[in-house]
Amino acid sequence: METLKRTRIADLFRTQPIGTTVMVKGWVRTRRGNKQVGFIALNDGSTIKNLQIVVDLEKFDEETLKLITTGACICATGQLVESQGKGQSAEVQAETLEVYGTADPQTYPLQKKGHTMEFLREIAHLRPRTNTFGAIFRMRHQMAYAIHTFFHQKGFCYFHTPIITASDCEGAGQMFQVTTKNLYNLKKDENGAIIYDDDFFGKQTSLTVSGQLEGELAATALGAIYTFGPTFRAENSNTPRHLAEFWMVEPEVAFADLEELMNLEEEFIKYCIKWALDNCQDDLQFLNDMFDKGLIERLQKVAETEFVRLPYTDGIKILEEAIAKGHQFEFPVYWGCDLASEHERYLVEEHFKKPVIMINYPKEIKAFYMKQNEDGKTVQGTDVLFPQIGEIIGGSVREESYDKLMARIEELNIPMKDMWWYLDTRKYGTCPHAGFGLGFERLMLFVTGMSNIRDVIPFPRTPKNAEF
Ligand code: ATP
Ligand code: MN
Repeated sequence: METLKRTRIADLFRTQPIGTTVMVKGWVRTRRGNKQVGFIALNDGSTIKNLQIVVDLEKFDEETLKLITTGACICATGQLVESQGKGQSAEVQAETLEVYGTADPQTYPLQKKGHTMEFLREIAHLRPRTNTFGAIFRMRHQMAYAIHTFFHQKGFCYFHTPIITASDCEGAGQMFQVTTKNLYNLKKDENGAIIYDDDFFGKQTSLTVSGQLEGELAATALGAIYTFGPTFRAENSNTPRHLAEFWMVEPEVAFADLEELMNLEEEFIKYCIKWALDNCQDDLQFLNDMFDKGLIERLQKVAETEFVRLPYTDGIKILEEAIAKGHQFEFPVYWGCDLASEHERYLVEEHFKKPVIMINYPKEIKAFYMKQNEDGKTVQGTDVLFPQIGEIIGGSVREESYDKLMARIEELNIPMKDMWWYLDTRKYGTCPHAGFGLGFERLMLFVTGMSNIRDVIPFPRTPKNAEF
Protein backbone atom coordinates (compact mmCIF):
# COMPACT_ATOMS: atom_id res chain seq x y z
CA MET A 1 0.00 0.00 0.00
CA GLU A 2 1.17 3.48 -0.81
CA THR A 3 1.89 5.61 2.22
CA LEU A 4 -0.78 8.13 2.90
CA LYS A 5 0.11 11.74 2.13
CA ARG A 6 -1.32 14.84 3.69
CA THR A 7 -4.17 16.60 1.87
CA ARG A 8 -4.80 20.33 2.33
CA ILE A 9 -8.24 20.98 3.75
CA ALA A 10 -9.09 23.40 0.94
CA ASP A 11 -8.37 20.62 -1.58
CA LEU A 12 -10.47 18.12 0.40
CA PHE A 13 -13.49 20.41 0.28
CA ARG A 14 -12.96 21.05 -3.41
CA THR A 15 -12.40 17.52 -4.65
CA GLN A 16 -14.58 15.71 -2.10
CA PRO A 17 -13.08 12.21 -2.34
CA ILE A 18 -15.91 10.73 -0.23
CA GLY A 19 -15.16 7.22 1.00
CA THR A 20 -11.38 7.45 0.71
CA THR A 21 -8.96 7.50 3.60
CA VAL A 22 -7.26 10.86 3.98
CA MET A 23 -4.60 12.45 6.13
CA VAL A 24 -4.98 16.02 7.39
CA LYS A 25 -2.73 18.16 9.54
CA GLY A 26 -3.57 21.42 11.22
CA TRP A 27 -4.40 23.36 14.35
CA VAL A 28 -7.37 22.65 16.58
CA ARG A 29 -9.80 25.53 16.61
CA THR A 30 -12.34 24.03 18.99
CA ARG A 31 -13.15 20.73 20.51
CA ARG A 32 -16.56 19.72 21.80
CA GLY A 33 -18.61 16.59 22.21
CA ASN A 34 -20.03 14.23 24.79
CA LYS A 35 -18.90 11.10 26.58
CA GLN A 36 -18.97 8.90 23.48
CA VAL A 37 -17.95 11.14 20.63
CA GLY A 38 -15.72 14.16 20.18
CA PHE A 39 -15.78 16.77 17.42
CA ILE A 40 -12.57 18.54 16.51
CA ALA A 41 -12.71 21.61 14.28
CA LEU A 42 -9.41 21.55 12.41
CA ASN A 43 -7.93 24.40 10.38
CA ASP A 44 -4.76 24.23 8.32
CA GLY A 45 -4.77 27.77 6.92
CA SER A 46 -5.57 26.72 3.36
CA THR A 47 -9.18 27.88 3.75
CA ILE A 48 -11.31 29.69 6.28
CA LYS A 49 -13.42 26.53 6.54
CA ASN A 50 -12.67 24.10 9.35
CA LEU A 51 -12.72 20.38 8.76
CA GLN A 52 -14.64 18.41 11.33
CA ILE A 53 -12.90 15.35 12.72
CA VAL A 54 -15.30 12.96 14.41
CA VAL A 55 -13.66 10.94 17.17
CA ASP A 56 -15.12 7.78 18.66
CA LEU A 57 -13.62 8.30 22.11
CA GLU A 58 -13.56 4.60 22.95
CA LYS A 59 -11.04 3.93 20.16
CA PHE A 60 -8.34 6.28 21.52
CA ASP A 61 -6.40 6.37 24.72
CA GLU A 62 -7.28 9.08 27.15
CA GLU A 63 -3.74 10.43 27.38
CA THR A 64 -3.71 11.40 23.69
CA LEU A 65 -7.23 12.79 23.75
CA LYS A 66 -6.40 15.03 26.70
CA LEU A 67 -3.75 16.81 24.64
CA ILE A 68 -6.11 17.74 21.83
CA THR A 69 -7.16 21.18 22.98
CA THR A 70 -7.64 24.52 21.25
CA GLY A 71 -4.41 25.56 19.55
CA ALA A 72 -2.80 22.11 19.52
CA CYS A 73 -1.31 20.88 16.26
CA ILE A 74 -2.37 17.41 15.19
CA CYS A 75 -2.29 14.91 12.37
CA ALA A 76 -5.43 12.89 11.77
CA THR A 77 -6.20 10.11 9.34
CA GLY A 78 -9.54 8.55 8.60
CA GLN A 79 -12.29 8.10 6.11
CA LEU A 80 -13.86 11.15 4.50
CA VAL A 81 -17.59 10.82 4.87
CA GLU A 82 -20.61 12.92 4.05
CA SER A 83 -21.36 15.14 7.01
CA GLN A 84 -24.51 14.78 9.06
CA GLY A 85 -24.16 18.20 10.64
CA LYS A 86 -25.21 21.25 8.71
CA GLY A 87 -22.75 23.89 7.57
CA GLN A 88 -20.15 21.47 6.27
CA SER A 89 -20.18 19.03 3.40
CA ALA A 90 -17.70 16.40 4.54
CA GLU A 91 -15.98 15.27 7.70
CA VAL A 92 -13.34 12.80 8.71
CA GLN A 93 -14.08 9.73 10.83
CA ALA A 94 -10.85 9.53 12.84
CA GLU A 95 -8.81 6.33 12.61
CA THR A 96 -5.48 7.64 13.91
CA LEU A 97 -4.61 10.79 15.82
CA GLU A 98 -1.13 12.10 16.44
CA VAL A 99 -0.32 15.20 18.46
CA TYR A 100 2.55 17.25 17.05
CA GLY A 101 2.39 20.10 19.54
CA THR A 102 0.22 20.84 22.53
CA ALA A 103 -1.15 24.23 23.57
CA ASP A 104 -1.62 24.59 27.30
CA PRO A 105 -5.19 25.79 27.87
CA GLN A 106 -3.98 27.75 30.90
CA THR A 107 -1.71 29.98 28.82
CA TYR A 108 -2.67 29.77 25.13
CA PRO A 109 -4.22 33.19 24.54
CA LEU A 110 -6.63 32.32 21.73
CA GLN A 111 -9.13 30.36 23.78
CA LYS A 112 -12.47 32.02 23.38
CA LYS A 113 -13.76 33.80 20.34
CA GLY A 114 -14.51 37.48 20.30
CA HIS A 115 -11.15 39.02 21.19
CA THR A 116 -10.88 42.71 20.39
CA MET A 117 -8.72 43.81 17.47
CA GLU A 118 -6.59 45.76 19.95
CA PHE A 119 -5.85 42.63 21.97
CA LEU A 120 -5.06 40.67 18.84
CA ARG A 121 -2.51 43.32 17.82
CA GLU A 122 -0.69 42.59 21.07
CA ILE A 123 -0.41 38.94 20.06
CA ALA A 124 0.41 39.59 16.40
CA HIS A 125 2.59 36.47 16.44
CA LEU A 126 -0.49 34.30 16.99
CA ARG A 127 -3.26 36.27 15.33
CA PRO A 128 -2.80 34.60 11.92
CA ARG A 129 -4.41 31.59 13.62
CA THR A 130 -7.73 33.39 13.96
CA ASN A 131 -10.42 33.27 11.29
CA THR A 132 -10.22 36.99 10.73
CA PHE A 133 -6.48 37.23 10.20
CA GLY A 134 -6.34 34.00 8.25
CA ALA A 135 -8.83 35.59 5.85
CA ILE A 136 -6.95 38.90 5.71
CA PHE A 137 -3.53 37.36 5.07
CA ARG A 138 -4.83 34.94 2.43
CA MET A 139 -6.40 37.96 0.75
CA ARG A 140 -3.15 39.91 1.08
CA HIS A 141 -1.41 37.16 -0.85
CA GLN A 142 -4.17 37.14 -3.47
CA MET A 143 -3.93 40.91 -3.96
CA ALA A 144 -0.14 40.77 -4.34
CA TYR A 145 -0.59 38.05 -6.94
CA ALA A 146 -3.28 40.11 -8.69
CA ILE A 147 -0.93 43.08 -8.91
CA HIS A 148 1.87 41.05 -10.48
CA THR A 149 -0.58 39.39 -12.85
CA PHE A 150 -2.09 42.70 -13.95
CA PHE A 151 1.21 44.31 -14.81
CA HIS A 152 2.75 41.19 -16.27
CA GLN A 153 -0.19 40.76 -18.64
CA LYS A 154 0.16 44.37 -19.74
CA GLY A 155 3.85 43.91 -20.52
CA PHE A 156 5.22 45.87 -17.56
CA CYS A 157 8.61 44.89 -16.20
CA TYR A 158 8.92 44.29 -12.44
CA PHE A 159 11.85 46.49 -11.52
CA HIS A 160 13.61 46.42 -8.16
CA THR A 161 14.54 49.77 -6.68
CA PRO A 162 16.85 50.17 -3.69
CA ILE A 163 15.67 50.27 -0.09
CA ILE A 164 18.68 52.26 1.08
CA THR A 165 18.99 55.63 -0.61
CA ALA A 166 21.15 58.72 -0.42
CA SER A 167 18.58 61.03 -2.01
CA ASP A 168 16.47 63.00 0.38
CA CYS A 169 14.76 65.34 -2.01
CA GLU A 170 11.61 63.42 -2.80
CA GLY A 171 9.96 65.19 0.05
CA ALA A 172 7.28 62.55 0.50
CA GLY A 173 7.89 62.29 4.20
CA GLN A 174 10.36 62.12 7.05
CA MET A 175 13.06 59.51 6.54
CA PHE A 176 14.70 56.92 8.78
CA GLN A 177 18.48 57.20 8.76
CA VAL A 178 20.68 54.23 8.02
CA THR A 179 24.07 54.23 9.68
CA THR A 180 26.69 51.98 11.23
CA LYS A 181 28.17 54.86 13.19
CA ASN A 182 28.42 54.79 16.93
CA LEU A 183 25.61 57.15 17.80
CA TYR A 184 27.13 57.88 21.21
CA ASN A 185 30.38 59.11 19.77
CA LEU A 186 29.77 61.00 16.53
CA LYS A 187 32.51 62.72 14.60
CA LYS A 188 31.52 66.34 14.02
CA ASP A 189 33.01 69.30 12.21
CA GLU A 190 33.72 72.64 13.86
CA ASN A 191 30.11 73.74 13.30
CA GLY A 192 28.79 70.66 15.09
CA ALA A 193 27.56 69.01 11.88
CA ILE A 194 27.98 65.25 11.71
CA ILE A 195 30.74 64.05 9.39
CA TYR A 196 29.57 61.06 7.39
CA ASP A 197 32.70 60.30 5.38
CA ASP A 198 33.63 57.45 7.71
CA ASP A 199 30.10 56.07 7.77
CA PHE A 200 29.34 52.82 5.92
CA PHE A 201 28.35 54.49 2.64
CA GLY A 202 30.56 57.51 3.13
CA LYS A 203 27.52 59.75 3.11
CA GLN A 204 24.20 60.21 4.85
CA THR A 205 21.75 57.48 3.85
CA SER A 206 18.14 56.63 4.66
CA LEU A 207 15.40 54.11 4.05
CA THR A 208 13.51 54.96 0.90
CA VAL A 209 10.16 56.76 1.00
CA SER A 210 9.40 55.81 -2.62
CA GLY A 211 10.95 53.98 -5.53
CA GLN A 212 9.67 56.54 -8.00
CA LEU A 213 12.85 58.34 -8.95
CA GLU A 214 14.65 55.11 -9.80
CA GLY A 215 11.42 53.89 -11.39
CA GLU A 216 11.61 56.84 -13.77
CA LEU A 217 15.11 55.80 -14.79
CA ALA A 218 13.78 52.35 -15.62
CA ALA A 219 10.68 53.56 -17.48
CA THR A 220 12.78 55.78 -19.72
CA ALA A 221 14.66 52.67 -20.83
CA LEU A 222 12.31 49.70 -20.52
CA GLY A 223 9.12 51.56 -21.43
CA ALA A 224 6.76 50.40 -18.73
CA ILE A 225 7.83 49.19 -15.31
CA TYR A 226 6.43 48.76 -11.83
CA THR A 227 7.97 48.41 -8.42
CA PHE A 228 6.34 46.62 -5.51
CA GLY A 229 8.27 46.78 -2.29
CA PRO A 230 8.55 48.20 1.20
CA THR A 231 8.78 51.93 1.78
CA PHE A 232 9.39 53.80 5.00
CA ARG A 233 8.14 57.04 6.44
CA ALA A 234 9.03 58.34 9.85
CA GLU A 235 5.76 60.23 10.06
CA ASN A 236 4.79 60.63 13.62
CA SER A 237 1.14 60.45 12.68
CA ASN A 238 -0.82 57.96 14.67
CA THR A 239 -3.71 57.46 12.28
CA PRO A 240 -5.60 54.38 11.14
CA ARG A 241 -4.23 55.00 7.60
CA HIS A 242 -0.49 55.47 8.17
CA LEU A 243 2.30 53.00 8.82
CA ALA A 244 6.01 53.70 9.25
CA GLU A 245 6.72 50.69 7.02
CA PHE A 246 4.31 49.97 4.20
CA TRP A 247 4.33 48.38 0.77
CA MET A 248 3.96 50.50 -2.31
CA VAL A 249 3.15 49.63 -5.90
CA GLU A 250 4.64 52.16 -8.31
CA PRO A 251 4.15 51.79 -12.05
CA GLU A 252 5.93 54.24 -14.34
CA VAL A 253 5.09 54.48 -18.03
CA ALA A 254 7.00 56.17 -20.82
CA PHE A 255 4.91 58.20 -23.30
CA ALA A 256 1.80 58.20 -21.07
CA ASP A 257 -0.16 61.42 -20.72
CA LEU A 258 -2.67 62.50 -18.09
CA GLU A 259 -5.57 60.69 -19.76
CA GLU A 260 -3.63 57.44 -20.06
CA LEU A 261 -2.42 57.75 -16.48
CA MET A 262 -5.96 58.08 -15.16
CA ASN A 263 -7.12 55.16 -17.30
CA LEU A 264 -4.32 52.99 -15.92
CA GLU A 265 -5.12 53.95 -12.31
CA GLU A 266 -8.78 53.14 -12.76
CA GLU A 267 -8.25 49.92 -14.67
CA PHE A 268 -5.66 48.73 -12.18
CA ILE A 269 -7.76 49.29 -9.06
CA LYS A 270 -10.83 47.73 -10.65
CA TYR A 271 -8.81 44.71 -11.69
CA CYS A 272 -7.60 44.20 -8.11
CA ILE A 273 -11.11 44.54 -6.69
CA LYS A 274 -12.57 42.13 -9.24
CA TRP A 275 -9.76 39.70 -8.43
CA ALA A 276 -10.78 39.80 -4.77
CA LEU A 277 -14.42 39.17 -5.69
CA ASP A 278 -13.50 36.28 -8.00
CA ASN A 279 -10.78 34.59 -5.94
CA CYS A 280 -11.47 35.31 -2.28
CA GLN A 281 -15.16 34.44 -2.01
CA ASP A 282 -15.09 32.49 1.27
CA ASP A 283 -12.83 34.95 3.04
CA LEU A 284 -14.78 37.94 1.76
CA GLN A 285 -18.06 36.38 2.82
CA PHE A 286 -16.66 35.84 6.31
CA LEU A 287 -15.42 39.44 6.63
CA ASN A 288 -18.70 40.69 5.18
CA ASP A 289 -20.76 38.73 7.71
CA MET A 290 -18.59 39.42 10.74
CA PHE A 291 -17.41 43.01 10.31
CA ASP A 292 -18.96 44.93 7.49
CA LYS A 293 -22.32 43.91 6.04
CA GLY A 294 -21.85 46.25 3.08
CA LEU A 295 -18.40 45.04 2.03
CA ILE A 296 -19.14 42.78 -0.93
CA GLU A 297 -21.77 45.13 -2.30
CA ARG A 298 -19.36 48.07 -2.03
CA LEU A 299 -16.64 46.16 -3.89
CA GLN A 300 -19.06 45.15 -6.63
CA LYS A 301 -20.25 48.71 -7.01
CA VAL A 302 -16.78 50.23 -7.23
CA ALA A 303 -15.67 47.55 -9.71
CA GLU A 304 -18.52 48.59 -12.00
CA THR A 305 -18.81 52.37 -11.65
CA GLU A 306 -16.91 54.87 -13.69
CA PHE A 307 -14.68 57.02 -11.50
CA VAL A 308 -15.31 60.78 -11.48
CA ARG A 309 -12.48 62.85 -12.96
CA LEU A 310 -12.46 66.17 -11.20
CA PRO A 311 -10.13 69.16 -11.61
CA TYR A 312 -9.02 70.48 -8.22
CA THR A 313 -10.52 73.89 -9.03
CA ASP A 314 -13.97 72.34 -9.56
CA GLY A 315 -13.58 70.35 -6.35
CA ILE A 316 -12.94 73.55 -4.41
CA LYS A 317 -16.10 75.07 -5.92
CA ILE A 318 -18.19 72.09 -4.81
CA LEU A 319 -16.79 72.33 -1.29
CA GLU A 320 -17.42 76.09 -1.17
CA GLU A 321 -21.00 75.54 -2.30
CA ALA A 322 -21.43 72.94 0.42
CA ILE A 323 -20.20 75.45 3.01
CA ALA A 324 -22.58 78.08 1.61
CA LYS A 325 -25.41 75.60 2.11
CA GLY A 326 -24.43 75.14 5.74
CA HIS A 327 -22.08 72.16 5.68
CA GLN A 328 -19.40 72.51 8.36
CA PHE A 329 -15.77 71.49 7.93
CA GLU A 330 -13.10 71.68 10.57
CA PHE A 331 -10.44 73.02 8.17
CA PRO A 332 -10.90 76.04 5.86
CA VAL A 333 -11.44 75.61 2.11
CA TYR A 334 -9.89 78.00 -0.41
CA TRP A 335 -8.14 77.67 -3.77
CA GLY A 336 -4.61 76.57 -2.93
CA CYS A 337 -5.41 74.63 0.24
CA ASP A 338 -4.26 71.06 0.68
CA LEU A 339 -7.46 69.08 1.00
CA ALA A 340 -8.01 67.44 4.37
CA SER A 341 -9.51 63.98 4.54
CA GLU A 342 -12.88 65.47 5.62
CA HIS A 343 -12.95 67.37 2.31
CA GLU A 344 -11.97 64.33 0.28
CA ARG A 345 -14.56 62.19 2.03
CA TYR A 346 -17.27 64.79 1.45
CA LEU A 347 -16.60 64.74 -2.29
CA VAL A 348 -16.42 60.96 -2.52
CA GLU A 349 -18.99 59.79 0.02
CA GLU A 350 -21.57 62.57 0.00
CA HIS A 351 -21.35 64.54 -3.21
CA PHE A 352 -20.48 62.03 -5.94
CA LYS A 353 -20.95 58.76 -4.04
CA LYS A 354 -18.22 57.16 -6.13
CA PRO A 355 -14.42 57.19 -6.39
CA VAL A 356 -12.93 60.46 -7.58
CA ILE A 357 -9.70 61.06 -9.47
CA MET A 358 -8.75 64.60 -8.63
CA ILE A 359 -6.39 66.30 -11.08
CA ASN A 360 -4.55 69.54 -11.80
CA TYR A 361 -3.57 70.60 -8.30
CA PRO A 362 -1.96 73.92 -7.36
CA LYS A 363 1.76 73.43 -7.85
CA GLU A 364 2.52 74.70 -4.34
CA ILE A 365 0.98 71.66 -2.67
CA LYS A 366 2.55 69.04 -4.94
CA ALA A 367 6.02 67.62 -5.54
CA PHE A 368 8.63 69.35 -7.70
CA TYR A 369 8.66 66.69 -10.43
CA MET A 370 5.02 67.04 -11.51
CA LYS A 371 4.34 68.34 -15.00
CA GLN A 372 3.46 72.01 -15.04
CA ASN A 373 0.32 73.09 -16.88
CA GLU A 374 0.13 76.01 -19.33
CA ASP A 375 -1.70 78.14 -16.76
CA GLY A 376 1.50 78.42 -14.72
CA LYS A 377 -0.45 77.62 -11.57
CA THR A 378 -1.35 73.94 -11.64
CA VAL A 379 0.42 70.63 -12.14
CA GLN A 380 -0.75 67.33 -13.58
CA GLY A 381 -1.05 65.42 -10.32
CA THR A 382 -3.74 62.81 -9.79
CA ASP A 383 -4.99 61.62 -6.44
CA VAL A 384 -7.46 58.74 -6.47
CA LEU A 385 -9.89 59.23 -3.59
CA PHE A 386 -11.87 56.30 -2.27
CA PRO A 387 -14.84 55.88 0.04
CA GLN A 388 -13.75 55.05 3.63
CA ILE A 389 -10.06 55.30 2.72
CA GLY A 390 -9.46 58.76 1.31
CA GLU A 391 -6.30 58.88 -0.83
CA ILE A 392 -5.47 55.43 -2.15
CA ILE A 393 -3.26 56.49 -5.08
CA GLY A 394 -1.04 59.50 -5.66
CA GLY A 395 0.27 59.92 -9.17
CA SER A 396 1.31 62.43 -11.79
CA VAL A 397 2.57 63.15 -15.23
CA ARG A 398 6.24 63.99 -14.69
CA GLU A 399 7.86 67.20 -15.89
CA GLU A 400 10.02 66.07 -18.78
CA SER A 401 11.56 69.44 -19.64
CA TYR A 402 15.01 69.84 -18.10
CA ASP A 403 14.69 73.61 -17.92
CA LYS A 404 11.26 73.65 -16.32
CA LEU A 405 12.28 70.96 -13.84
CA MET A 406 15.47 72.82 -12.89
CA ALA A 407 13.58 76.09 -12.52
CA ARG A 408 11.19 74.43 -10.08
CA ILE A 409 14.03 72.78 -8.16
CA GLU A 410 15.75 76.14 -7.74
CA GLU A 411 12.50 77.85 -6.78
CA LEU A 412 12.00 75.30 -4.03
CA ASN A 413 15.65 75.22 -2.99
CA ILE A 414 15.77 71.44 -3.23
CA PRO A 415 19.21 69.97 -2.55
CA MET A 416 20.08 68.14 -5.77
CA LYS A 417 23.76 67.48 -5.27
CA ASP A 418 23.23 63.73 -5.07
CA MET A 419 20.57 63.78 -7.77
CA TRP A 420 22.60 64.28 -10.94
CA TRP A 421 21.55 60.83 -12.10
CA TYR A 422 17.87 61.77 -11.94
CA LEU A 423 18.44 64.92 -13.93
CA ASP A 424 20.22 62.89 -16.60
CA THR A 425 16.85 61.36 -17.59
CA ARG A 426 15.83 64.86 -18.66
CA LYS A 427 19.19 65.68 -20.20
CA TYR A 428 19.50 62.61 -22.42
CA GLY A 429 16.56 61.37 -24.46
CA THR A 430 13.92 62.80 -22.21
CA CYS A 431 10.33 61.81 -22.91
CA PRO A 432 6.82 62.38 -21.60
CA HIS A 433 6.07 59.87 -18.87
CA ALA A 434 3.75 59.33 -15.95
CA GLY A 435 3.28 57.06 -12.99
CA PHE A 436 1.60 56.58 -9.66
CA GLY A 437 2.03 55.06 -6.22
CA LEU A 438 -0.59 52.89 -4.59
CA GLY A 439 -0.27 52.14 -0.90
CA PHE A 440 -0.79 48.38 -0.79
CA GLU A 441 -2.22 48.47 2.73
CA ARG A 442 -4.73 51.15 1.74
CA LEU A 443 -5.94 48.80 -0.99
CA MET A 444 -6.04 46.02 1.61
CA LEU A 445 -8.16 48.22 3.88
CA PHE A 446 -10.63 48.70 1.09
CA VAL A 447 -10.93 45.08 -0.01
CA THR A 448 -11.13 43.64 3.51
CA GLY A 449 -13.34 46.35 5.00
CA MET A 450 -10.98 46.65 7.97
CA SER A 451 -10.86 50.07 9.58
CA ASN A 452 -7.31 50.12 10.93
CA ILE A 453 -4.22 49.77 8.74
CA ARG A 454 -2.48 47.88 11.58
CA ASP A 455 -4.79 44.97 10.86
CA VAL A 456 -3.97 44.41 7.19
CA ILE A 457 -0.19 43.96 7.52
CA PRO A 458 1.20 41.04 9.54
CA PHE A 459 3.55 43.02 11.77
CA PRO A 460 2.73 46.72 11.75
CA ARG A 461 5.41 49.31 12.37
CA THR A 462 4.03 52.48 13.90
CA PRO A 463 5.34 55.13 16.30
CA LYS A 464 6.53 53.41 19.51
CA ASN A 465 5.80 49.95 18.12
CA ALA A 466 8.24 47.56 16.48
CA GLU A 467 7.34 44.38 18.37
CA PHE A 468 7.68 40.99 16.65
P1 ATP B 1 -1.26 60.89 2.84
O1 ATP B 1 -1.61 62.29 2.46
O2 ATP B 1 -2.41 59.97 3.02
O3 ATP B 1 -0.25 60.83 3.97
P2 ATP B 1 0.77 61.01 0.81
O4 ATP B 1 0.24 62.13 0.01
O5 ATP B 1 1.86 61.24 1.78
O6 ATP B 1 -0.48 60.30 1.58
P3 ATP B 1 2.15 59.73 -1.37
O7 ATP B 1 3.46 60.27 -0.95
O8 ATP B 1 1.52 60.25 -2.60
O9 ATP B 1 1.11 59.80 -0.16
O10 ATP B 1 2.28 58.12 -1.45
C1 ATP B 1 1.55 57.35 -2.39
C2 ATP B 1 0.57 56.41 -1.71
O11 ATP B 1 1.17 55.68 -0.66
C3 ATP B 1 -0.59 57.13 -1.05
O12 ATP B 1 -1.61 57.39 -1.99
C4 ATP B 1 -1.06 56.12 -0.03
O13 ATP B 1 -1.88 55.12 -0.64
C5 ATP B 1 0.23 55.46 0.38
N1 ATP B 1 0.79 55.97 1.64
C6 ATP B 1 1.43 57.13 1.85
N2 ATP B 1 1.88 57.25 3.10
C7 ATP B 1 1.52 56.10 3.73
C8 ATP B 1 1.71 55.60 5.05
N3 ATP B 1 2.38 56.29 5.97
N4 ATP B 1 1.21 54.37 5.34
C9 ATP B 1 0.56 53.65 4.40
N5 ATP B 1 0.35 54.06 3.15
C10 ATP B 1 0.81 55.28 2.80
MN1 MN C 1 1.79 61.23 3.90
